[in-house]
This record gives sequence, structure tokens and C-alpha cells, in this order.
Amino acid sequence: MVLSLADLALRGGERYERTYPLDLEPITLGGEAYRVLVPEGVSVSVDRVTGGYLVTVAFDAKMYGPCARCLEEAVLRVHAEQQEFAPTAKGGWEETELSEFIKDLVVDVPGLAREALILALPAQVVCADSCLGLCPRCGKDLNQGPCACGDEKLDGRWSRLKELDLGEGETP
Ligand SMILES: [Zn+2]
Ligand SMILES: [Zn+2]
Repeated sequence: MVLSLADLALRGGERYERTYPLDLEPITLGGEAYRVLVPEGVSVSVDRVTGGYLVTVAFDAKMYGPCARCLEEAVLRVHAEQQEFAPTAKGGWEETELSEFIKDLVVDVPGLAREALILALPAQVVCADSCLGLCPRCGKDLNQGPCACGDEKLDGRWSRLKELDLGEGETP
């Protein structure tokens, strides 16, 4: 879905606002794919300013996928918002200063929205900030209670193995 800024025929100081439905492909984060839903669509506003347009996209997304700690299904709610300036005259602008999602005053709305979402994401998706994750030794979901490893002291055999590993300097 694209939006042609020139077709809006805005005069200086005028603003255009509309909400569009938005379907985004799953986003990969930490090697896992997260489904994205934007139930209320993306709000797009365009302000005609000196020398060009200010394009703003804003939306609330829900992302579904595994919790990075316990692997249970998690839902992440994210507010994404991004503003880009699109100059009416290209002169004087470096390619890198311009949004890659606005070409010749035509806005790639899903592309811009996807970038806004990715920039708004945390480093990992967790089911809850308090999620305890899985025990690194036995794999038990620690949200369901402590496992037996917690209190166990490293036994002699295990310490010797660790020393051997350190001695070799490199892990295979
Ligand atoms: Zn979790
Ligand atoms: Zn354990």
C-alpha cells in the first residue's frame, strides 16, 4: 500500500490524517519468528511544511511468539512511531539522509511501519519481566517451581571436568 504525497494536494500548514489497515510479515528476533497483529491499523499523518512533508506513522502492535527465556507463548505489546521528512526538491540531500521508504514523494506505508516497529522492539520478547526462564542444566521451567539443581553443589567429578575444559583453552 503506497501513499502519494503529491496527490494529497496539501497547501502550506495543512495536515492529512488517516488510518490504514496494516498487515505485516512475521518479524525475526533472536532467531525466532514473531507473528505481528495491528488490530487498529496504522495512523498516518502528513504535514506540509517548508520544503517538503513530514510523514508520521504510529500504531500499536501485538507480537506473538516464544518467550526468549521459558519458550512459552508470549505476547508483546509495542507502540511504534516514526517521523520522516520528505523534501519536495531532492537537491542538497544525501541519499542516506532520506527515508528509504519514501521515493519520489511516494510513501511505502508498510515498509515504513515495519521499520518503525523494529526500532521500537526490545532486545528480546519475554512472557513477563519476572519470567525465571529454564534451568540451564535440567531444562525445567523455573516459573513452575524450583528444580533439583538449585541447591546441588558441584560434585568432584564435575569440577575436574571443568578444570580439563579450562586447561584446553578452547571449547569445541
Ligand atoms: Zn517466559
Ligand atoms: Zn535444574
